[in-house]
Amino acid sequence: MNRNWVVGQAIAAAAALHLAASVPAAAQGIPQATPVNTASISPVADATAVRREALVWLADLIKINTSNPPGNEQLAARYVAGVLQKEGIKPEILDLAPGRSAVVARLRSSVVPDPSKALLLVAHLDTVPVDRSRWTVDPFGAVIKDGYLYGRGAIDDKGMLAANLAVFIDLKRRNAHINRDVIFLATADEEGGGDASIRMLIAKYWDKFAAGFAINEGGNVFMKNGKAQYIGVQASEKVAVNISVIARGTSGHASQPTKDNPVVHLAAAIAKIGAYSAPVHFPAIVRRYFEGITPLEDDEIAKWIRSMDTPDRGEHAQRVVSDASPLWNAMMRDTIAPTVLSAGVANNVIPAEARANLNVRLLPGDSINTVVNDLNKLVNDPAVKLEIQPNAGLAAPPSSLESDFFNQICRVASREFGGAPALPFQSTWLTDSAQLRLHNVQAYGLVPFPLSDDDLKRMHGDDERIPLTAFDKGVDVLTKIVTEFAVTRY
Ligand SMILES: [Zn+2]
Repeated sequence: MNRNWVVGQAIAAAAALHLAASVPAAAQGIPQATPVNTASISPVADATAVRREALVWLADLIKINTSNPPGNEQLAARYVAGVLQKEGIKPEILDLAPGRSAVVARLRSSVVPDPSKALLLVAHLDTVPVDRSRWTVDPFGAVIKDGYLYGRGAIDDKGMLAANLAVFIDLKRRNAHINRDVIFLATADEEGGGDASIRMLIAKYWDKFAAGFAINEGGNVFMKNGKAQYIGVQASEKVAVNISVIARGTSGHASQPTKDNPVVHLAAAIAKIGAYSAPVHFPAIVRRYFEGITPLEDDEIAKWIRSMDTPDRGEHAQRVVSDASPLWNAMMRDTIAPTVLSAGVANNVIPAEARANLNVRLLPGDSINTVVNDLNKLVNDPAVKLEIQPNAGLAAPPSSLESDFFNQICRVASREFGGAPALPFQSTWLTDSAQLRLHNVQAYGLVPFPLSDDDLKRMHGDDERIPLTAFDKGVDVLTKIVTEFAVTRY
């Protein structure tokens, strides 16, 4: 931050206040505004203004329906570009497919860019669809009610998008002395991961946003009893692969059932798979996560977490810890969730084929072939075949837990959330960061809003909403993270 600027602004503000105090505002020909609070004479006053504007941007973005499919991110990309342009920033719309675009903009730190130092602020423009009949408000109305802003994308990920925009514009407005390029990027098709996704964006436009560091969604402020319990800073994520389970038999008249009915074989296979748990192991990040979380839990569960690695009680301890939390369970093993079943053409016909889909989430580095082998042994039925589906995710190396940026995120987040520890976090869900990590970006995930479990569950669900106070706090925290990493103070 340029100290001269701050002093200058403070003097100007003080002078304005003095003038306002001595001459009635109406007499000066200026419109009546809310009374100026002396406590706000500092850069904080500008930060408050940006936060207020960011809420308007978020509401506007919610009103632009970018449910994916089909996405239609181009409209939102144009909106964001318009906001940036008004600030004197030159955005670029990056077209990916008809109606589908990303948008990028850059604040330069020097004439010759150094991509290895650059910081990327990433968020996605698209959202998951809605089931309107289950919402109590218009999902695209950006309704403010009881201290919340409601709407699809309020958290995932338009909240973060508006926060990134606020941080980026704040740097520009304060004319901050940045020590690295700061790049704003809004991606498309994150929820679909298809032909307009970050994969395509990197393939077509990598030079426009190549960076050494990134902050994105993926981690969270985990709350307990209304307070931050810990901050999970995502540095790695699991890998999604789908497997088809196909049972084949002889079709025929339902009045004379046969033993090879594929519906029966498929159901038996799925029942076995549903009861199965893959073996436990601990990637380094997960190990550090559990070490960090142990002192935060009650004595009983802490005892079991500590015992997970012991030869005698390990297995039992892993079971207790897995049963205590679906998140913990999924952090320490590959998971297999049956998600789609299909069979049958008519009530009185035994079909020739029955199929199911298994959504597998691998720990990075685990092999899908091993999972398929284990499941084949478990199902042990020659009438049932497993087929790995194309477009399997690629495992990315984890981001470093030693980088300056990781340390900075942890330090600022912990300080800003009442001293709650910041822990390395491996998300069970996917984000755009995996693709960035595959391109040597040290990408970290932190949605900076303190959200209750109830609010987090509404992501991808009904009545998604963000508390206005959490949004403000998140913009503030993100501003501090980026400022303390990318702005030179002197
Ligand atoms: Zn998201």
